[in-house]
Amino acid sequence: MRLGDNAALAAALATGLPVIPIFLWDSEHDNAIAPGAASCWWLHHSLLRLVQSLQAHGSRLIVRRGPSALTLAALARETESARIFCNRVVNPTAPSDTSLAGRLRAEGISLETCTPSLLFEPGSIRNTSGGPFQVFTPFWRACLNQRASIPAPLDAPQHIPPSPSWPRSLTVADLDLEPRIDWAAGIRAAWSPGEAAALSRLQSFRPSLTEYATERDRPDHEGSSRLSPHLHFGEVSPARIWHSLAGCPGAEPYLRQLAWREFAHHLLSEYPHTLQQPFQPQFRHFPWRRNRRLLRAWQKGRTGYPIVDAAMRELWTTGWMHNRARMIVASFLVKHLLIPWQDGAAWFLDTLVDADLANNTMGWQWVAGCGVDAAPYFRIFNPVLQGEKFDPQGDYVRRWLPELGALPAEHIHQPWNAPPLVRTAAGVHLDSNWPLPIVDHAQARAAALAALSEMKAAAR
Ligand code: FAD
Repeated sequence: MRLGDNAALAAALATGLPVIPIFLWDSEHDNAIAPGAASCWWLHHSLLRLVQSLQAHGSRLIVRRGPSALTLAALARETESARIFCNRVVNPTAPSDTSLAGRLRAEGISLETCTPSLLFEPGSIRNTSGGPFQVFTPFWRACLNQRASIPAPLDAPQHIPPSPSWPRSLTVADLDLEPRIDWAAGIRAAWSPGEAAALSRLQSFRPSLTEYATERDRPDHEGSSRLSPHLHFGEVSPARIWHSLAGCPGAEPYLRQLAWREFAHHLLSEYPHTLQQPFQPQFRHFPWRRNRRLLRAWQKGRTGYPIVDAAMRELWTTGWMHNRARMIVASFLVKHLLIPWQDGAAWFLDTLVDADLANNTMGWQWVAGCGVDAAPYFRIFNPVLQGEKFDPQGDYVRRWLPELGALPAEHIHQPWNAPPLVRTAAGVHLDSNWPLPIVDHAQARAAALAALSEMKAAAR
């Protein structure tokens, strides 16, 4: 979704021939995890920006829908093209580029692929035995050792030679990505999709880099870059971010987070089954509980724990959630409610504007304790203490839960323990305008540890 640092576009331009930019919407393949509603909203607007940008460069975007191999082959025949260039992303549910290349080759068409969505090709960062890393810190060290291979970002082309005759195209609206009922006002107010917005966010974040290490963990502050949806949709490349920030004071903790993204993508490419299955096989025996009522309460931000509910409302309203808050709500779902991490991951995939198969899978498995280099399951976040530590004044809670807005900071993370007079003065009425906690922390913790023991016994 960008013209700058777009390896496939650059390779096509290097042929010196006219270039036909294509967006192919192949949502029909088997096993596909359909993009969620918030992702579709973003994609629609990002495509509109791309169309404008291509037009400004003398070109167009040809939009088609259908199965990849058939649609591309038909388009190549129509336009007498023999070479297709594409940018690869890690998505185990999409047709693999080797199978696609094989099917196109049979039609006399070559498919040339690049991976500018990552800093390093999956499979290129190996441990001393030649295998994939399963622990982040040595992976990060290996990335640093290979940083010289991160290509310098390419500028956007000045001009794209147009096709002498353009093939027919759908419009972006024909893809039906926008919601029929407009629920996206909060997302629209919070975000601006597209390459120009991504680059401007990168620019405006740069001065905050020096405070990133301390600020990134505070959901009540704007301490992180919020580049995740732009990165997910390829509106800015990780190589551009790397080269524009590396060497700046305070850059290392930030680049380390970018390497977590890299780690997630390399892992998913290596272990595609982890999209649905736990990386640690013993977790297949975990006694998860399926409870629709509790799942709904979590989704709607009605658990009674303010930090959890504030985060779930932030997600519902803006399509994004702070990383610390993601860890807290995910932990609450899998450890306090014992609901399978896959159910939480599915909700995130539907509601996040940065919904990303690799990052989301790694994040959920990390929290659930069943992933690679994961937090141990027995470490169970106390949502009250997490709130008090990372939102000490309660500003984050107040922003998303106005019904608790008048509670003083010392009570805001546990309204049920506030003196009744303080609650009444703040207009907070338990079980009326504020729910009682849906589970008791101490009991939930004991149940989670018992479930862990049960799993271990079953796995023996
Ligand atoms: P910054 O702190 O500014 O970091 C810069 C970039 O580094 C991010 O944009 C992101 O691309 C990458 N990054 C940062 N932290 C992580 C991380 N822990 N794992 C992988 N990459 C990271 N991120 C997604 O992009 N999509 C998801 O679907 C997603 N689901 C998650 C689910 C759970 C349960 C958890 C715990 C984390 C998830 N993350 C996901 C990772 C992380 O929360 C977001 O990338 C981050 O909050 C985005 O905010 P930012 O751009 O301000 O990050």
